[in-house]
Amino acid sequence: MAKRKLRIVRRTNNIPVLGVCEFCNMQFPAHHPLSGQSEAQAAIQQQFNAHKCEHEDANQVGARIVRETTENK
Ligand SMILES: [Zn+2]
Repeated sequence: MAKRKLRIVRRTNNIPVLGVCEFCNMQFPAHHPLSGQSEAQAAIQQQFNAHKCEHEDANQVGARIVRETTENK
């Protein structure tokens, strides 16, 4: 089963500030001041969990089909 995946692409002082979905390349910034690493990670993770992959690359078509059959809301 193909699964979308969150990747942290930018860190400041070891605190995650920008995550990206490897599936659709959507970006998830950690905005407001965050007290620590785990909180920043959670803020990014939360956006990632809430988003819907919409901008698939052409080479992800196969994965998209899998997603549509497995992500039936
Ligand atoms: Zn996505």
